[in-house]
Amino acid sequence: MTTDFTKTRALFDLPEGMIYLDGNSLGPLPRNVADRVAQTITGEWGQMVITGWNRAGWMDLPARVGDRIARLIGAEAGHVVMGDTLSIKVYQALASALEMNPDRRVILSDTGNFPSDLYMAEGLCKTLGPEYRLVTVAPQEVEAAIDDSVAVLMLTEVDYRTGRRHDMPALTAKAHAMGALAVWDLAHSAGATDVKVAEGRADFAVGCSYKYLNSGPGGPAFIYVAPRHVDVARPALSGWLGHEAPFAFDLDYRPGRGIDRMRVGTPPVLQLVALDAALDVWDGVRIADLRARSLELTDAFIKSVEAACPDLTLATPREHAMRGSQVSFRHPEGYAIMQALIARGVIGDFRAPDIIRFGFTPLFVGMDEVEQAVTILAEIMETRAWDRPEFKTRAKVT
Ligand SMILES: *Cc1c(COP(=O)(O)O)cnc(C)c1O
Repeated sequence: MTTDFTKTRALFDLPEGMIYLDGNSLGPLPRNVADRVAQTITGEWGQMVITGWNRAGWMDLPARVGDRIARLIGAEAGHVVMGDTLSIKVYQALASALEMNPDRRVILSDTGNFPSDLYMAEGLCKTLGPEYRLVTVAPQEVEAAIDDSVAVLMLTEVDYRTGRRHDMPALTAKAHAMGALAVWDLAHSAGATDVKVAEGRADFAVGCSYKYLNSGPGGPAFIYVAPRHVDVARPALSGWLGHEAPFAFDLDYRPGRGIDRMRVGTPPVLQLVALDAALDVWDGVRIADLRARSLELTDAFIKSVEAACPDLTLATPREHAMRGSQVSFRHPEGYAIMQALIARGVIGDFRAPDIIRFGFTPLFVGMDEVEQAVTILAEIMETRAWDRPEFKTRAKVT
């Protein structure tokens, strides 16, 4: 049976009159989340207080919710755990992977990667010593740059700016053939594409939950460790909840069994409950249907915008295999154009220096929204409605 996306659309609370094309940055609110979180606050925290850790199962949430995400990213059950923010999870995965390749010193990434991933890698190299190096090349040059000096290939599968998608299985296979490990960041693929970490042979994968998985602002990140590594990967951030027996309060650290060792400290229970509720939306969704629908929506958007707005330059690859679930266009006045769109109720975002970015989440975006968004964008471009001082002042968050 194919997925009914009108049904999933009805599970979201979207503001009246808004066309929301920013689910790639912050997913909207699923209808059931507020009640579930309220119930956790008053019924669990309010009534059970500290006994909630056992009675309400708070302590098991990171693994239980991780399992629900495992299905969405094609991971083996029991190999995904939640916690911390994505930047922290990038650090963890990278540190463990580097240690598993002790004779090499190079982390290879690309210039399209999200800066925080690169910053974390840089910081880790500084901590480890002067021989460690982060090397970045252009996204299309990654494959050729994987040689036998590389310890870890660290890539974000879908480029946050352009929406370009790397070939995870092919690049991972090349990394393995060269004796390197592969760490994949799924921030813009989990819940957006048909990502298959197990089939693609990723060694580690990480991602956030507040984008296409709709956990709300500040929701926790996830980390996946391949079954073949999970009992050998040493957690660089050795917090008490990654210990084999946290409540033994031993003075020495011993890593926990399996993926639990990637936990660090106290889980963010309220955010995990919000995420758990938000994941209910995915229950009837087949990932293959999601991918097919996403490509239909992005194809339609590209075609209509190119026909109606000749001044905008497509930054996203046309080829399906090379595209995530967002479409980006370049224009020197991109920031003002996006502000003008937002003023008209079409919410996308801007990424410096000149990218306007639109995310297409089939769960709540349909062909009607695609057409309406293009009509408004075309009007703004034709009338130069963006050319006003109030659209040119940069806000703190773009
Ligand atoms: C969104 C995003 C982040 C954000 O990291 P946080 O620690 O959650 O703020 C990191 N990396 C990538 C690739 C992202 O897309």
